[in-house]
Amino acid sequence: MANTVWDKLSKAELKKLHAFNEEYRVFLSNSKTERTFATNSVAYAESQGFKPLQSFKKLKAGDRVYAVNRGKNLILFVMGKKPLTEGMNILGAHIDSPRMDLKQKPIYERDGLVLMDTHYYGGIKKYQWVARPMALVGVVCKKDGTTVEINIGDKPNDPVVGISDLLIHLAAKQLQKPGATVVEGEQLDLLVGSIPKKDEQKDPVKAYLLDLLKEQYDIEEDDFLSAEIEVVPAGEARDYGLDRSMILGYGHDDKVCAYTSLRAIAEIKKPERTSVCVLVDKEEIGSVGATGAQSDFYEHVVAKLLDLQGYTSLVNLHDALENSAMLSSDVSVAYDPNYPEVYEKNNSAYFGKGVCFNKYTGARGKSGSNDASAEFMAQIRKCMDDNNVMFQTCELGKIDVGGGGTIAYILANKNMNVIDAGICVQNMHAPFETVSKADVYEAYRAYIAFLTDIK
Ligand code: MN
Ligand code: MN
Repeated sequence: MANTVWDKLSKAELKKLHAFNEEYRVFLSNSKTERTFATNSVAYAESQGFKPLQSFKKLKAGDRVYAVNRGKNLILFVMGKKPLTEGMNILGAHIDSPRMDLKQKPIYERDGLVLMDTHYYGGIKKYQWVARPMALVGVVCKKDGTTVEINIGDKPNDPVVGISDLLIHLAAKQLQKPGATVVEGEQLDLLVGSIPKKDEQKDPVKAYLLDLLKEQYDIEEDDFLSAEIEVVPAGEARDYGLDRSMILGYGHDDKVCAYTSLRAIAEIKKPERTSVCVLVDKEEIGSVGATGAQSDFYEHVVAKLLDLQGYTSLVNLHDALENSAMLSSDVSVAYDPNYPEVYEKNNSAYFGKGVCFNKYTGARGKSGSNDASAEFMAQIRKCMDDNNVMFQTCELGKIDVGGGGTIAYILANKNMNVIDAGICVQNMHAPFETVSKADVYEAYRAYIAFLTDIK
């Protein structure tokens, strides 16, 4: 029996694996924020025959439907032959990633330099985010109702910005500090300019920059009050390893599961049960808000679909949710031989061994986790084996070393079967994370199997 996905695949399948990963690498490089990921996903979905919910008057099996929430949260459906009340097979993942956001009043001048103040988003080791090229991606919404798109730092001739670090020569005292405070949150300020405006007395460097923003983007300082600009690592995702077996990129958490889920649902034509792909925002800060997994958006869209099928009772909605099955896909942790002390080897995920299933996640005795039922896990095992999908089971590190949560419990609260699934990564939440191409491809195959076979 094959030990890794690499051993298992034929030459022709290996070619497919690399082609699929190249498409992912390019998509990821162009989709660093939840907004750009959602926009690019809609374009892809439309190319695959999906149409917006509001364009449907009624629904039949095989219809391909999508709904977007505030540009940051997306749901796609391929309608099944069975009515929705018999449940859906749902793939869920999140499309926000750890980063820094510009503050509402970001711009200030100090000692002849102009900087932008940021507030970090999600769990980061702050010292990893300094002394590297960064891009600015987001929107500025103006009072006149127009929106200016900002995307600076990723095109070949763009300038980049970044956060300075203290030179090693003068860092003796800094290096005595614990890792958590070597670089502190309020030190994460971006250097964005150094030319003074001629004959300007007060803050001439800031004045020069504001003139430039006005000229190039038609925005003013106050417009940052209503902006969402994310500071993300500049540059493309890259093939990683001399054998090109991995991809190094920003935002694999959790865009790698989102992308593979999106590609999987696009493969589904006329399923028995309705296929769903839910891509949510705000997971990294607790799945909160209108576009996070806790939002009623999902339920509301399902209610609208039921309505189009002639089901209007609340009982119908509850039936649809209760009879559903979900893979809550999020990245898991890949065993790292540089840090063996944090893993329990028998229950760790390894690069190249396929899609991961975590019966539970959480911390301090599984707290905050979903803990899928044994019955559901049995169904999943059968589905994977029947479809020749290689899978592994894992925990997020040794007991009481740390832990983490996902969106799994939120959908499980609707009383449906949910299990954590996904792809394992190294350097999770660092500016660049690593995945194995074998696992990316196998997850995509696992998702197709799940949508097709789970009854
Ligand atoms: Mn995640
Ligand atoms: Mn995360």
